[in-house]
Amino acid sequence: MREKRPSKASHALQFNVAQLLKDSSGARRVYNIDTELPPLDEKLTVVAPFHGQVQFIRVGAGLLVTGNLETSVELECTRCLSVFRTRAHFEIEEEFHPTLDVVTGTRLPQKPDQDTATLIDEHHILDLAEVIRQDLLLSLPSSPTCRPDCHGLCPHCGQNLNEGSCSCEEEIVDPRWAALKENVMRET
Ligand SMILES: [Zn+2]
Ligand SMILES: [Zn+2]
Repeated sequence: MREKRPSKASHALQFNVAQLLKDSSGARRVYNIDTELPPLDEKLTVVAPFHGQVQFIRVGAGLLVTGNLETSVELECTRCLSVFRTRAHFEIEEEFHPTLDVVTGTRLPQKPDQDTATLIDEHHILDLAEVIRQDLLLSLPSSPTCRPDCHGLCPHCGQNLNEGSCSCEEEIVDPRWAALKENVMRET
């Protein structure tokens, strides 16, 4: 008999932590991450595998997960509306709690405000995907620009001013200069 393949829902950021939950406080595991993930968020396009390292530490009520990860994402420039790629670096630090007691199999009481993203499921699977999605989104700039000196779009004709100037530029004069010009004309 061939071994059953993992279901499509599973991915490289799901870890079976049954053994670690049985270990004593302070026990740790370190995992290198180098993986593609299924789409995390409809508003975000991830264009590179996730790289980095995560560490699981057995603490009082569960597992403390810390790590540093990086990937590349596509963002839309808020000035010129072009889509560009950028590296994203982010940290994770979350405490995960088991659903079941790993020794007795009994269901453990959960706090009413327990975030389901940090629950270890009844098969002792710890899934980092949701935490990574949240921390990645938080790490991104709220007003991304394709480059620091992006010239944006002409507010009059919509021309992308990074690609060239438009003919509006000569006609639109700063109102202060316009006033000055008028005075000069009156004096002469
Ligand atoms: Zn731009
Ligand atoms: Zn223009």
